[in-house]
Amino acid sequence: MACMTIDYSVPQERQLVTAIPGPRSLALTERRRRAVSRGAGNLAPVWMDHGSGGILVDVDGNHIIDLGTGIGVTTIGHANPDVAAAAAEQATKLTHTLFTVTPYENYLRVAEKLSEITPGDFEKRSILLNSGAEAVENAVKIAKKYTGRRAIVALDHAFHGRTNLTMAMTYRSAPERLGFGPFPGEIYSVPLSYPFRDGLDGPAAAEVTIDYIERHIGASEVAAFFAEPVLGDGGIVIPAPGYFARISEWCTENGIVFVADEIQAGIGRTGAWYSIEHHGVVPDLITSAKGIAGGFPLSAVTGRAEIMDAVQPGGIGGTFGGNPVSTAAALATFEVIEREDLLGEARRVEATLRSLIGDWAERFDIVGEVRIIGAMAGVELVVPGTKQPHPTALQTVIDAAIAQGVLVLDAGSWDSVLRLLPSAVMSDELLRDAVSVLEDALRQVAS
Ligand SMILES: *Cc1c(COP(=O)(O)O)cnc(C)c1O
Repeated sequence: MACMTIDYSVPQERQLVTAIPGPRSLALTERRRRAVSRGAGNLAPVWMDHGSGGILVDVDGNHIIDLGTGIGVTTIGHANPDVAAAAAEQATKLTHTLFTVTPYENYLRVAEKLSEITPGDFEKRSILLNSGAEAVENAVKIAKKYTGRRAIVALDHAFHGRTNLTMAMTYRSAPERLGFGPFPGEIYSVPLSYPFRDGLDGPAAAEVTIDYIERHIGASEVAAFFAEPVLGDGGIVIPAPGYFARISEWCTENGIVFVADEIQAGIGRTGAWYSIEHHGVVPDLITSAKGIAGGFPLSAVTGRAEIMDAVQPGGIGGTFGGNPVSTAAALATFEVIEREDLLGEARRVEATLRSLIGDWAERFDIVGEVRIIGAMAGVELVVPGTKQPHPTALQTVIDAAIAQGVLVLDAGSWDSVLRLLPSAVMSDELLRDAVSVLEDALRQVAS
């Protein structure tokens, strides 16, 4: 492990002192039933008290290895001391003005930083918002205004959010959309490159996508093509090499705004600032959120100046967008990523995961494919001897892992992909311990 300088307030090791969930968690779960909507479901009813680095400590005192990071948010580790200090200091100075009423420098500094770290050697502009879905919504508005066109294209299996517009771009019926329609029109879900399932190389899969769009919509009607360069909720699907290069070239030829939704895979998680860089593509617009502020709510749309400036003043914005405390946290997050070389650390996590789980498809009948990019891994579970998704096996593995103090996520349109999103600061020792727990769980379902 490289010489990181982050101080951890909690020892970086797994430690169980009660069953998980423990008695305090069970009591809180009972209370929640009477106060919190059932609609906000819990993956694991284990209530957290504090955390540090790669460890979460629950209300019963169990030290849990966190391979979920709140769905890819705390990429720099839990409760980073620099982020905490920056946010605390800002909270005593100024907590709100609304940037569009009277501006403040933190907002500007985050926008300048985003211009620097996003791919593309051209003039850029950003707008800051609160959530990922809000960033996607604004990217839709900006692309429509710039092109004057009606249609929005998103990939099959992609996740873009839970607001009415972004839910329409998230093409999974349950649980995301069930009972929430009707949805806004002119949103099209198109076939993507999914090498494990379509067996196509990138350029061939791109032709399928392009043919679909040309036959169903017409290229000249399309305002924006939304690409999730690594599909996160879709199951860590990594489209084949050459896929996005062909799509983005076709978008340019047809005046379509190519948007990379980097909300899950961006801000260093894949070992590059943005995951689209692995595909050698420079998007017109990029959305950032989850990992951008060490856990504080902040999102952004960044892109070509002429597209971003096509919107009339007052056309985009929002009360809390680019909040002073969130932007202070983001500036500290960027500093930590650079000082600790967390892009390099994400690549170390990738190498460690490759050595530990890269051969799982050969070792376990129920593993169809393992996909790893930076600190993102997906293990697609299948009925042995087939490519049929195996959601019940996934649930068993997740439950068994959590009972042993390893928090992992589910993913995939068929709920059959084990998703690992550890922080980039997680030590090789913690990864090894977590993987041994997961292997025990896999052996349980396999037998
Ligand atoms: C999480 C996510 C969103 C939505 O972000 P919220 O902050 O939950 O609104 C959009 N796109 C992608 C790729 C995501 O992973």
